Order: sequence, then structure tokens, then C-alpha cells
Amino acid sequence: MLATGGPLPAYPFPMDEARFALHHQAWKGISPRYEAYALLLPGDPSFICQPHVCDAHCCRKFSVSVGETDRARMERETALAPVQFLESEAGTPITLPLAKPYLLRRAENRCAMLAADLGCSVYSGRPDACRQYPYQVLFASVEGGIARPSRDEALALLASDSGAGPVALLVRHIECPGFTGEPLSSADWRTLRQSTLALQFAP
Ligand code: SF4
Repeated sequence: MLATGGPLPAYPFPMDEARFALHHQAWKGISPRYEAYALLLPGDPSFICQPHVCDAHCCRKFSVSVGETDRARMERETALAPVQFLESEAGTPITLPLAKPYLLRRAENRCAMLAADLGCSVYSGRPDACRQYPYQVLFASVEGGIARPSRDEALALLASDSGAGPVALLVRHIECPGFTGEPLSSADWRTLRQSTLALQFAP
């Protein structure tokens, strides 16, 4: 488990040109492997969810993994029984051999929790995957001018902003049309990357 609750390493804000260049270089090197994503940096449009524009695309397209922490929060926040919000069989939630073993229930080819007004009917209890979408943090190591995907997330977190080692890149899912808001400030971008990391590695 990674400790993502603490502050990231010291970072000059607003982001300086060297770090912009580093993020662009790292993304250029690894982006062919992540075609579903686009790099997000300070100054890019911020996110405003617009389900009426996309007909709640994410709630229709993705099956959502649910962990034990998610399951407990959903029960607490909604007073629903697990079989009401998890894919189940014969009155028992189905489990998969994964770190997050359950699946959010689907019906009529969409998330069963999607309300008629295209809002989430269990918003306060929604799983971490829904809280994280449409963001992801990817890691890249840059050495000798060549960027590669980095599997060493722990090292990347420690060195993410040093300019000398792995970089933690904040990316957005390109199919989400919600990036139409005010330009992201450097401080907001940094907070966003931190909260995305925390959700990404949540148990
Ligand atoms: S998160 Fe993006 S894809 Fe999902 S409903 Fe909102 S605007 Fe649409």
C-alpha cells in the first residue's frame, strides 16, 4: 500500500517551464500506450460533469469494480443491501479473484444506480472508481531523454517532481466531454493529482 495522504515533494508553483517540458516529454514517450487518455496540466480546462451532453457516457460504458471499503460505505450511506447495488446471483454478491472483488450492478446496459435525470442515485456512497473518473495518474521514467512507463509507483511517488527520475502524470479520459471549465490553477492541479493518487491506491 502506498502512502498517498502526505504531501508530495516540494514543488515550485506555478509550475515552471522545466517541469512543463518534463511532463510533456514523459507523456510523449508513453502516450502511444495510453491512447484513451490525454495529458492534463495547469492551465488546461477544468472538469464540469455534463451528463446531459454525453448521456452519462461513463455510467453506460464502464463496469465498476467495488472493494470492501466501497461496499461498506455504500451500505452506510444508502441503507441498501449489497444485493441491491452489487452484481449478484441467487441472492449473493458475485466475487472475482481481484483486489476489488465486486461489480456495481448493471441493468439495461448501464449502471443500475443511474437515475432518470442522469444523476447518480447513490452519489454520497458511490465507489472510489466513480470518484476518480475521469482522472488517472500514470508513471513514467525519463532517462537520457527517453521516457518509458514506470512500474515502480513507490519510487515515482517519491521522485515524481524532482526532474531526475520518474514523473507522476495526471491524465484525463478523452471520451469524457466535461473539460470545459475555467483553466486549472497550479494549486488545483496539484490537489487533483494528489486526490487522484489517493483514490487510485485506496484499498
Ligand atoms: S464524468 Fe464525463 S462521461 Fe461521465 S457523465 Fe460526466 S461528463 Fe459524461
